[in-house]
Amino acid sequence: MIEYRRHPRAKNYKITLKPDGRILVTIPNFGTQRKAEAFLASKQDWIAAQQAKRPPVPPLSAVEIERLRAEAKSYIPQRVAVLADQYGFNYHTVRIKNMTSRWGSCSSRGNLNFSLHLMRLPGVYIDYVILHELCHTQEMNHGPGFWNLLESVCPGAKKIDRALRKQGVAIG
Ligand SMILES: [Zn+2]
Repeated sequence: MIEYRRHPRAKNYKITLKPDGRILVTIPNFGTQRKAEAFLASKQDWIAAQQAKRPPVPPLSAVEIERLRAEAKSYIPQRVAVLADQYGFNYHTVRIKNMTSRWGSCSSRGNLNFSLHLMRLPGVYIDYVILHELCHTQEMNHGPGFWNLLESVCPGAKKIDRALRKQGVAIG
């Protein structure tokens, strides 16, 4: 989960990794949310390296799971709608599930499922997983056609995919 906090005395953008897995992004007084997001995106490799050094995240409590579910339900369906509209994808339904073995899935009927654990990842990965599943509405496999399509809507997709696999977030 990512939290942005504006700090009147901060001079620079800063990322703090909390022991519970949260990522805190400090925005300086005259900074912008947009620049903070760009800063965070530029630090993905560093964050992944830091998280890889940490012991596995302890299993979440039922309360934490429900908090993530509520967060995911209010964020992911509208984000899917925005990205689908932007890149011209059609889909049927979006469901949020407590999936612990995969981040997302797409059925042949265009029903998309997303793991509520996505909310524990930086936004760049959430968008990546959404675009990955949206591309499956047109290409139901991981062949060259799929990757070309995904690269066209998400430049650097393969690199993001590799980094996502290294994320320190334990699913489940
Ligand atoms: Zn896939």
